[in-house]
Amino acid sequence: MTCRRQKVLFIGGLGRSGSTLVERLLNELPTTFAVGETIHLWERGVRNGETCGCGAPFDDCAHWRAVGSAAFGGWDRVDADRLIELRWAVDRTRQLPAITLAHRRGQPGGDQRDYLDHLRRVLLAAAVVAGRPDVLLDSSKHLSTAALLALDDALDVRLLHLVRDPRGVAYSWTKHVARPETDGEVMPTYDPARTAARWVTDNLGFEALGRWVPTLRLRYEDVLTDPRAALAAIGRFVGIDVRGLDLGFIEGCSARLATPMHSVAGNPLRFGGDDVTLRLDDAWVTELGCGRRRLVTSLTAPLLVRYGYPIRPAVSGRRRPDRCGR
Ligand SMILES: [Zn+2]
Repeated sequence: MTCRRQKVLFIGGLGRSGSTLVERLLNELPTTFAVGETIHLWERGVRNGETCGCGAPFDDCAHWRAVGSAAFGGWDRVDADRLIELRWAVDRTRQLPAITLAHRRGQPGGDQRDYLDHLRRVLLAAAVVAGRPDVLLDSSKHLSTAALLALDDALDVRLLHLVRDPRGVAYSWTKHVARPETDGEVMPTYDPARTAARWVTDNLGFEALGRWVPTLRLRYEDVLTDPRAALAAIGRFVGIDVRGLDLGFIEGCSARLATPMHSVAGNPLRFGGDDVTLRLDDAWVTELGCGRRRLVTSLTAPLLVRYGYPIRPAVSGRRRPDRCGR
């Protein structure tokens, strides 16, 4: 008897690096299925009943009801508060040393195993309900979640390490973005210096995780420049026959994303319309400000250069950086 491990493509990277758009593009492939950000499942989905990517409240979404039944006999049989506590106990940045130790000894510890048991049941049930896709997409982004999931023997975890110019990421985290699934909540904002520090530590962490997890690194900017080539590269990475891929939903710099999403949490883009423009938001070139731009550039410079980003931002026809030292 053969036992095929479920492939999981984990989309990792600092928030605002384009993961939701990449997830939506990949979700259009017939052999993939996006489960969203499972790190938030217990709190935002099971306990709070927030809106699924399909637009229905979590409790009313037929997909998630079926997943709850298949995994646990119904979500009401899950102690959401305990799972939320367990998640914070094992799946956060400060737990990375413990997760690293687990990788070195080749198996998860007690609480890690308990949490993974629940997460695995959700993922495998989602695969069954979705018609057994070749690849599940988990866009949790967090380094700790990727490292933890990779400890599970039943899952064949691959990492898509998504990188974006840190000045664009830093600018994005200064903007106020509404969370449409809530009643007036906005996403948090962060100081550019903090974002720059996280950009360095998270990206170095994902590079280190490559010791244990097969990794494909892509720059978000390159995905937008040639989305078909990016999807083909990802397809080859996860073992999808790229010659058979129908990428007709991408035309020029726009994509028609008609496949429903049942992502349980994530960027508001997951609720977006069918037609999406594939264009880089480079507003940071003029809007971030000289001081902040110099600060982020200097804090991230070695890795910035290694990932092929210019120290001085490129000047496009649309954007003219203000006159400062850059
Ligand atoms: Zn749904």
